[in-house]
Amino acid sequence: MRLGLDGRTAIITGAASGIGAETARTMAAEGARLGLVDRDAEELARLAEELGGTGTEVTAVTADLAGADGVTEALTTLLDRFGGTTDVLVNNVGQCRARTFDELSDQDWLDTFEINFLSAVRAVRLVLPGMRRRGSGSIVTNASDLARQPEAGPADYQVSKVALLSLTKSLALSEGPAVRVNAVAPGPVWTPLWTRPGGFADTLGNVHGREAKEAVEYEMGKRQLPLGRMGAPEEVARVISFLASEAASFVTGAVWGVDGGTIRGLL
Ligand code: NAD
Repeated sequence: MRLGLDGRTAIITGAASGIGAETARTMAAEGARLGLVDRDAEELARLAEELGGTGTEVTAVTADLAGADGVTEALTTLLDRFGGTTDVLVNNVGQCRARTFDELSDQDWLDTFEINFLSAVRAVRLVLPGMRRRGSGSIVTNASDLARQPEAGPADYQVSKVALLSLTKSLALSEGPAVRVNAVAPGPVWTPLWTRPGGFADTLGNVHGREAKEAVEYEMGKRQLPLGRMGAPEEVARVISFLASEAASFVTGAVWGVDGGTIRGLL
């Protein structure tokens, strides 16, 4: 696919793993210049080396994005590197643990909003001045199908992703016609978010009182996915890259499902 991302700059948050890493690989193959941010220094360095080895210009910044300072330092470094602005921002970073409503303290809710929602607000605040000055830019945010069709839980995660969808619509209105602002709403995608120790599969096991693998199968059975399987990160990365690019030049304010058909409603 040639998307016209050749030579374009793209900042991707949460880039060291899963959907973020695949988005970096997809955009690198399209010739983009990449600014990658993650708190996992080791995985980020590994990815930067891999992509650098294919001739991609990569700047990797290690930062904790669950706080204003980390977002500001990382984005400022990357924007300086790109001459003050970026063509693309991908708000990908996010985390998810399966917890019942009763288990969630006020602090848990605030922590989820810090990383899933405020990281995006803060990153957008930093990239917009340059995009407005240049009169162009594209922002893609990684939400979730659970924002459009909530399950019983995890409530904190789902509500934080709803906030991202509202922000997307709002920014599409305020920043057009110069800047396009879109979101993807992935369904279940088999990434380290699920598989790492203490990740979604383990925590789902606690919630359902089953072994992790069995809990995932039970959960997928409940969701009755028309495509009958979980997604792969590159399947989301391709849609993010499309929305980020000029190939999607008449698309803004869109919430693009990449979900194997989980959403039953018409809207
Ligand atoms: P992942 O856990 O594989 O990757 C997330 C990355 O974010 C990791 O590299 C991690 O180190 C980084 N990260 C987490 N907290 C951070 C912090 N405080 N500061 C800096 N970096 C941090 O997850 P993924 O499945 O690739 O998810 C990426 C995005 O996709 C998330 O926003 C997630 O909510 C969304 N999403 C995932 C799924 C799914 O089923 N995997 C479904 C819908 C939406």
